[in-house]
Amino acid sequence: MEELCVDYVIIGSGPAGQKAAMQAAKLGKSVAIIEKDSFPGGVSLYSGTIPSKSLREAILDLTDFYKNSFYAKSMSLKKVSINDLNFRLHKVLDAQKDILLRQIEKNHIRLLHGIAQFKDSHSILVSDEEGNVLYHVSFSFCLIAAGSKPRHPVDIPFNRERIFDSTELLSIDHVPETMIVLGGGIIGAEYASFFAALGTEVTVIDKKDHLLPMLDEEIGLHLQTALSALGLKMVGGKEIEKIEAKSDCVEVLCKGGLVFSSDVLLYALGREANVAQLQIDKVGIFLNKKGYIEVNALFQTTTPHIYAAGDVIDSPALASTSMEQGRLAARHAFGEETHHFPTFYPIGIYTIPEISSCGYTEAELKSLNFRYEIGRAYYYEIARNQIVGNDPGMFKILFHADTLEILGIHIIGRSATELIHIGQVAMSFRAKIDYFIDQVFNYPTYAEGYRIAALNGCNKIKRRK
Ligand SMILES: Cc1cc2nc3c(=O)[nH]c(=O)nc-3n(C[C@H](O)[C@H](O)[C@H](O)COP(=O)(O)OP(=O)(O)OC[C@H]3O[C@@H](n4cnc5c(N)ncnc54)[C@H](O)[C@@H]3O)c2cc1C
Repeated sequence: MEELCVDYVIIGSGPAGQKAAMQAAKLGKSVAIIEKDSFPGGVSLYSGTIPSKSLREAILDLTDFYKNSFYAKSMSLKKVSINDLNFRLHKVLDAQKDILLRQIEKNHIRLLHGIAQFKDSHSILVSDEEGNVLYHVSFSFCLIAAGSKPRHPVDIPFNRERIFDSTELLSIDHVPETMIVLGGGIIGAEYASFFAALGTEVTVIDKKDHLLPMLDEEIGLHLQTALSALGLKMVGGKEIEKIEAKSDCVEVLCKGGLVFSSDVLLYALGREANVAQLQIDKVGIFLNKKGYIEVNALFQTTTPHIYAAGDVIDSPALASTSMEQGRLAARHAFGEETHHFPTFYPIGIYTIPEISSCGYTEAELKSLNFRYEIGRAYYYEIARNQIVGNDPGMFKILFHADTLEILGIHIIGRSATELIHIGQVAMSFRAKIDYFIDQVFNYPTYAEGYRIAALNGCNKIKRRK
């Protein structure tokens, strides 16, 4: 067993752990990351963000998705094999893994392979799978960035052949003819749209009536239309009684007697914090009712020199937000100037078509009794869209009807996850909607949609006066 003493120890090498480690190393601190998987990177690199988005890009590319929607009258997409898709996936993973390993080495961060478990409030034991203790790490500050994993209820017979969670789905060996996705949240909706674009007949089943209920309603309707055009079927208002894997299919029995069957099923009904092995009770940290670690606005747990960030502290549970939480937690631990986590941050949803938003939805503004107006721009009005493929999409900008301050931006369509950042920056400087009118935009670009939406919104205000 090796004894180590560091300023900062981090449990988990996903986005939260990585950015915290880099920040602490840049401040000249001695840093160790403990990771139980063979390679650093976390869910984000191996089973979440990067694989799913690489898969999406490969699907769009190899099926000629955009070309098809431009030239073809009907959607009959090129057949693609899992091997074709995996080729891209592995190339991206290898490149990302190399970059991460180089950064860890360059910043003199010690990477310890093993399972972390608290011994007391200033030390951690790191063991191998057999329980042999490999390291005893003493620390001044700690960050728990152990992430999350898919929920596996005992009555769901996961078998990696017909019934998969989102991690297992990455090892599927064929493109199924039919698929049921249980859960219309972000992960369910993204994978449902990917497989629909591959030509699989996809049915999403959820308790809620529509996919992604947190979206601005108008954007949600737009999504529903686009996904129906891909052949995706949504079955809302259903609760599941039983799921059974048969030799030739999966059967889903809903309460009330309705039965659905398909070749495979993706179970995408929730995730849970990775805390079982940590023994956090030994350091005075307990889980909240939902099973996540509670932190204050500075990411301190109830034991203040132990911080937690990323998926272990629950929503928003995104790689993007986890990175910033990790960085802020490290800065605070070492007395560096810091700020609170931003109130508004972008959310990117990589369904086909993609969606991104920042700020309030229209329903939220209504419930807060804001006097608001809406500026809209549809993709069919944008020259760039006609040039590259005539895809469906829209910009929706919500702004204060009196002060004109931008309150929310919602975009659906090609490049939405990139475009949102223009609006996000404007919002963070508390810009008014006419800011977009007074600027020159490159032409032809999708970004011009901001200007069209701003003109649309401001004209409504003028007409009212
Ligand atoms: C299918 C899918 C798609 C997603 N797409 C996006 C997206 O497009 N954009 C986005 O921003 N986010 C996306 N996310 C979310 C994103 O992946 C997570 O929010 C992010 O990975 C969380 O980062 P983290 O650092 O908290 O933890 P993780 O990335 O989960 O990493 C935690 C690490 O801790 C390690 N660990 C756990 N316990 C121990 C222990 N006891 N000892 C040692 N090591 C331990 C784990 O092995 C793991 O490597 C997606 C997630 C999924 C599942």
